[in-house]
Amino acid sequence: SLTIGIVGLPNVGKSTLFNALTKNDVLAANYPFATIEPNVGVVGVPDPRIGTLAEVFGSQKTIPATVSFVDIAGIVRGASEGAGLGNKFLANIRESDAICQVIRVFTDPDVVHVEGKVNPADDIETINTELVLADMQTLEKAIPRLEKEARKDKERAALLSAALDAQKVLDEGKTLFAAGVDPEPLQELTLLTTKPFLYVFNVDEEELANEELISSLRAMVAPAEAILMDAKIEAELAELPEEEAAELLAGIGQDEPGLHQLARIGFATLGLQTYLTAGPKEARAWTIPIGATAPQAAGVIHTDFQRGFIKAEIVSFDQLVEAGSMPEAKSRGWVRMEGKEYVMQDGDVVEFRFNV
Ligand code: GDP
Repeated sequence: SLTIGIVGLPNVGKSTLFNALTKNDVLAANYPFATIEPNVGVVGVPDPRIGTLAEVFGSQKTIPATVSFVDIAGIVRGASEGAGLGNKFLANIRESDAICQVIRVFTDPDVVHVEGKVNPADDIETINTELVLADMQTLEKAIPRLEKEARKDKERAALLSAALDAQKVLDEGKTLFAAGVDPEPLQELTLLTTKPFLYVFNVDEEELANEELISSLRAMVAPAEAILMDAKIEAELAELPEEEAAELLAGIGQDEPGLHQLARIGFATLGLQTYLTAGPKEARAWTIPIGATAPQAAGVIHTDFQRGFIKAEIVSFDQLVEAGSMPEAKSRGWVRMEGKEYVMQDGDVVEFRFNV
């Protein structure tokens, strides 16, 4: 499954955030015998639609979609030259499907800042520079080889031209993601900065209400997504019973934990969406890539469902809720029969028909 790598300079709150995430680890809760790497946290993607579906169908339990985070230690200035845990660090990022940068905004005099002062823009620059340098090295190695291959092979010529374009962007110090470069033609080169980025700004509690600061931080990384949270409070929230957590949240003027936002935005950043199934046993969200067809969606439940796919009975979540029940949605003509070509929409409530 797809993963999001958590990176950031030392002492910015990565471990605090990651520990809070693993307190919400749904894999650990639902599949106690699954082997989970110590640096991987699998968290549920909060989705109130699943609870609503469970009410409509009288389902006994609910199962959310999940998103996996990997704690990647070791970025320091010079990582691209192998400083610190440089090489291991780069290899770990290469295996991630998106990059979540944790940026320190909180100003605790007791917590040393590696660069001597809290400066979010500089820290983003430091991290991006290491990633850009690593990609430049990859391209410097690949381009001479691609030049040779391109003389004989048109497809290689296309890759070469994409690589040369990418090199120009990196030379300007920009990440390929920020420059909007299409990752598809470059895939084989496993570059780092084509991956989607998102940012967690670890702020002080009071700063969560500072509109001016919030918009300036968002603007700093736009069009990438930014999530603002106080990692220390998130860690506390993750350990509290639901009611007390709600009180603490209200106390700091928030409607939902930052971790919930992170899970949702992370999931979307990976290019994923969900469809829903429900019955007396469970109401569940299933993960598919945006653009998946109905048979591909069926294959996520079981490969036999994809192989034997006949059709899918689909109603949108909103219409199902408006109708109040499946039979009522049917009698209103809101339940559609969709075939093999149908492209799934987020929130489709589905029952597959298939041959076994
Ligand atoms: P890492 O090196 O990036 O993994 O950082 P840690 O999670 O170990 O945090 C470094 C120190 O900063 C620890 O003492 C944390 O308790 C503290 N810290 C982390 N997040 C916050 C925060 O949001 N506010 C404050 N004041 N301290 C924090």
